[in-house]
Amino acid sequence: MFRGTLIRSGNNAKTVKGDGEFETAIMYLAPFTLAGTNVCPMAEQAGCVAGCLNTAGRGAYNNVQLARIAKTKRYLSDRIAFMQELALDLQRFVAYCQRKGVKPAVRLNGTSDIQWEVAHPVTRALAQGYWKFANVFEAFPEVQFYDYTKVYKRVYRALPSNYSLVLSYSEANPAYADKVIAAALDTGANVAVVYRNKATRDALVSPSLEGRGGVIQNSLHGTGESLSREVFNGDDTDLRFLDPTGVIVGLYAKGRAKRDTSGFVVG
Ligand code: SF4
Repeated sequence: MFRGTLIRSGNNAKTVKGDGEFETAIMYLAPFTLAGTNVCPMAEQAGCVAGCLNTAGRGAYNNVQLARIAKTKRYLSDRIAFMQELALDLQRFVAYCQRKGVKPAVRLNGTSDIQWEVAHPVTRALAQGYWKFANVFEAFPEVQFYDYTKVYKRVYRALPSNYSLVLSYSEANPAYADKVIAAALDTGANVAVVYRNKATRDALVSPSLEGRGGVIQNSLHGTGESLSREVFNGDDTDLRFLDPTGVIVGLYAKGRAKRDTSGFVVG
C-alpha cells in the first residue's frame, strides 16, 4: 500500500499473465467545479456530473472530500509547485514498487479530466541532477500511466508511449456520444461503456476475446454514426493499457451508477 501526498495505491497488486505484476496508484482530485475551477472540461456536455464516482468508496467521507478539494486548489493556484509535489510522489512510488518487485502503474485522473500531456512540464531529480521534462510521462518512462477521458480530442494526439487513454462513453447527450464515436472511428481508440448490469455486459462480451467460441458485436447509437466493435470484459482488471486495441471496454454499473438514468449507463 503506497500513501503519497497526491497519489495512493491499495494493497492490490494485480498479476497479469505474461505481463507480470502491476500496482496502480491513483490521484483523486475534486471533479468539475468543486474546487472553484472546472477540471473536467467535457463534464457538462457528457452529462456525467450527477453520476460521477467522486462520492463512491472513500469519497463518501467529508474529510476525503475536503482533502481532494485542497489538493485541487493547490493544483489550480500553483501548478509548478503541484507538479513538483507530484514528481516527488511518483519518485517515491517507483522506489516503493522496486522494493516490492512490482511494476508501477498510475492513473492521474481518478476523478478529474486534466490534459496532463499538454502544458504540464515537470522537473525530476535524477542521479545527474535536476532535469526538466515536457510532462510526467517523459519524466517517468518506467511508469505506465493510463486514464479514462471524456475529452475526446485527446485521442487524436500523438500521446507518449507510456500513456494510455480510453474514451469514456455516455449517451446523456447525443452530440457528445457522436463525437466519441467519431473519435473512436477516426483513431481506433478504445471506448469504455458502462452497461446496466453484469448480465447485459456479459451477453455482449466477445467470446473471441475471452477464449470462448463465437463473436457478438455491439452498436452504440448517437444521432449520427454507429460503432460496431467487439466487447471486451473490462472488469477483470483496471489495467486498461493491457486491453486489446479497437474494442469496446465493457464495464457494468456498480454502486450509485446502478440507478443512473442520465444516459451514462447504457441498457
Ligand atoms: S469527467 Fe469524470 S471525473 Fe469529471 S465529472 Fe465527469 S465522471 Fe466525474
